Amino acid sequence: MIDYNVNEDGFYGEFGGAYIPEILYKTVEDLKKAYLPILESQEFNEELHILLRDYVGRPSPLYYAKRMSEQYGCQLYLKREDLNHTGAHKINNALGQILLAKKMGKTRIIAETGAGQHGVATATACALMNLPCVVYMGATDVERQHVNVQRMRMLGAEVHPVTSGNMTLKDATNEAIRDWCCHPADTFYIIGSTVGPHPYPDMVARLQSVISEEIKWQLEEKIGRNYPDYLMACVGGGSNAAGTIYHYLNDERVKIVLAEAGGLGMETPMTAASMQIGTVGILHGSRIKLMQTEDGQIIEPYSISAGLDYPGTGPLHCNLHATGRAKVIAINDDEVLDAAFELTRLEGIIPALESAHALGALKHMQFKPDDVVVLTVSGRGDKDLSTYLKHI
Ligand SMILES: *Cc1c(COP(=O)(O)O)cnc(C)c1O
Repeated sequence: MIDYNVNEDGFYGEFGGAYIPEILYKTVEDLKKAYLPILESQEFNEELHILLRDYVGRPSPLYYAKRMSEQYGCQLYLKREDLNHTGAHKINNALGQILLAKKMGKTRIIAETGAGQHGVATATACALMNLPCVVYMGATDVERQHVNVQRMRMLGAEVHPVTSGNMTLKDATNEAIRDWCCHPADTFYIIGSTVGPHPYPDMVARLQSVISEEIKWQLEEKIGRNYPDYLMACVGGGSNAAGTIYHYLNDERVKIVLAEAGGLGMETPMTAASMQIGTVGILHGSRIKLMQTEDGQIIEPYSISAGLDYPGTGPLHCNLHATGRAKVIAINDDEVLDAAFELTRLEGIIPALESAHALGALKHMQFKPDDVVVLTVSGRGDKDLSTYLKHI
């Protein structure tokens, strides 16, 4: 049987690895040695558990969506990560990594951010833990996501606008890596998704795996069976999806459906569907599927949701796609908006644009009436109201 988890060398099939500059070798090696013993220790788990419960508000509910179930002819349960403190799943990972950073004796935190959601989660964790925080953000995104910049600054973080390249997420990540190279001894780099060099994809997946850990006992409680027929989630870098599927990766009874950002259509240049249209290459230390020209220049991705427009997808998901373990569907902007309005009107839940990609995938499925479907609502839509209102 195939094991879909990372192997000892940091690979998922042909994807993953740690392609890093020489100067970071020791830092990444130290992290590789430290992360598993710490993440598996009782002390770490107790501290994290208390934070997740009392600060984040976990467990997040598993909500039976009755009207949506009728609409799609299945038993649809929504995993409500939108109800977490700071409005999305990203806080699960930020708190876990900052606890790890403290245990490793690091005294300074850096992060990259695109839409600003990971930056806000990291700035929040840093305020809580009293650690200095520097967030790199493309200058274009600083302008587009002004409210999140102000939230980060109010939380005490230094936000550095990055003016290289297209001034978006990829450029912010390059700049964060540059900073890390200059301060490898005291600085911990909190990466916001299941991307980057090994051990980051595995570490982030483990920190988000609280999602599927809860799904297991919540389903048992609700339907007397601890697994669904389908798991569905949206994929940017892949962290909310990784958390949703983590404990079911090798359970073939459970089908996995991943929604990536189609943008204006996979066949157009305005897309972020990197698993389906990308080619294999190395980005930010990892061998993944990415959007690039024939000579390896990154093609700027496009999506209606700022949180999904990374030009690649993490190695775990690339492997799930390549092996056929997961079905990957590109959801276009118009389907995303329809899905967001549908959930709002049928269930009174305004989802993040990112999460609406997972909802948009429902229309592409053919369910049997008793199929149990768990779909993760990764975040809330408050941040996306101006986009929604333009389309009302
Ligand atoms: C950042 C974000 C995503 C995409 O990131 P993943 O790492 O793929 O989960 C999805 N949904 C929301 C609400 C986000 O903020």
